[in-house]
Amino acid sequence: MKRIGVLTSGGDAPGMNAAIRAIVRKGIYHGLEVFGVYNGYSGLINGKIEKLEVGSVGDIIHRGGTMLHSARCLEFKTQEGQQKGIEQMKKFGIEGLVVIGGDGSYQGAKALTEHGFPCVGVPGTIDNDIPGTDFTIGFDTAINTVLDAIDKIRDTASSHERTFIIEVMGRDAGDIALWSGLAGGAETILIPEDNYDMNEIAERLRKGNDRGKKHSIIVVAEGVKSGNEFAKELEEATNFDTRVSVLGHIQRGGSPTASDRVLASRLGARAVELLLEGKGGRAVGIENNQLVDYDILEILGTPHKVAFDMYRLSKELSI
Ligand code: ADP
Repeated sequence: MKRIGVLTSGGDAPGMNAAIRAIVRKGIYHGLEVFGVYNGYSGLINGKIEKLEVGSVGDIIHRGGTMLHSARCLEFKTQEGQQKGIEQMKKFGIEGLVVIGGDGSYQGAKALTEHGFPCVGVPGTIDNDIPGTDFTIGFDTAINTVLDAIDKIRDTASSHERTFIIEVMGRDAGDIALWSGLAGGAETILIPEDNYDMNEIAERLRKGNDRGKKHSIIVVAEGVKSGNEFAKELEEATNFDTRVSVLGHIQRGGSPTASDRVLASRLGARAVELLLEGKGGRAVGIENNQLVDYDILEILGTPHKVAFDMYRLSKELSI
């Protein structure tokens, strides 16, 4: 393999740039030419492809977002779209592709693999919902952003004796809510993987109130329901004064944490090694701090598991 490509697709995540940098430099270090594909699969179809040099990825390791930009591309879900993408890569002499993204982006990489084009998936999403890895690139930064918000809200909550409801991202996965809620000492954490019992929540809030607690913080993953909907339900079940904060897209931005930059560098470099070894159709990940890789066709069928032991612990610690 002499030429490889890299693209970022789907929702952006802090640390994607660090991964791009690692892929470009690791590739060049080993004598490859590395091409950046702009705007995800849309750029692949339209040939928005440029050769990247060592300097092209200078000064990006600390930046959020992705220098290659991202896009949603419906056309790539079709056979014709996928063929167009493969033809573009042939035109540029690209023989292998690294795809950095989430679940949907992996579907695209899977499709290319099925067409016989060597592809390696690198998990880049704040949601931490990709199977075959303990952590995805961007997750650590996102939970630290949420934690910073929880800490700030805690200050104001204690001045006014209110119940604060913080809505965080996570449509199908509760990881952001769980990790940030546990780190932030939230009274209650609601995740899409479990049903909640309003009576139990109300009881816990009353108990806290009786022992003189000044405030309560409830973290709700958006996949459960909106913070506003939940606040309405809670106010109907109790007479507590609630306030809602919807954190929204700030969770996607910001300079990546050290942990995300290191993870991105390791995973990006591993993806290039696999292509150099002639192994396509793989998805890289980290498990117990060891780099791993799995068959991308198999990994996509495996459901992501939230850490239920941590979820139980969060309940034990918020008595
Ligand atoms: P994420 O990667 O963050 O989950 P999306 O679900 O939006 O984001 O997926 C990103 C892109 O991946 C889509 O816009 C599309 O181009 C491509 N993609 C998603 N699903 C498929 C599929 N089944 N086949 C081919 N490409 C897909």
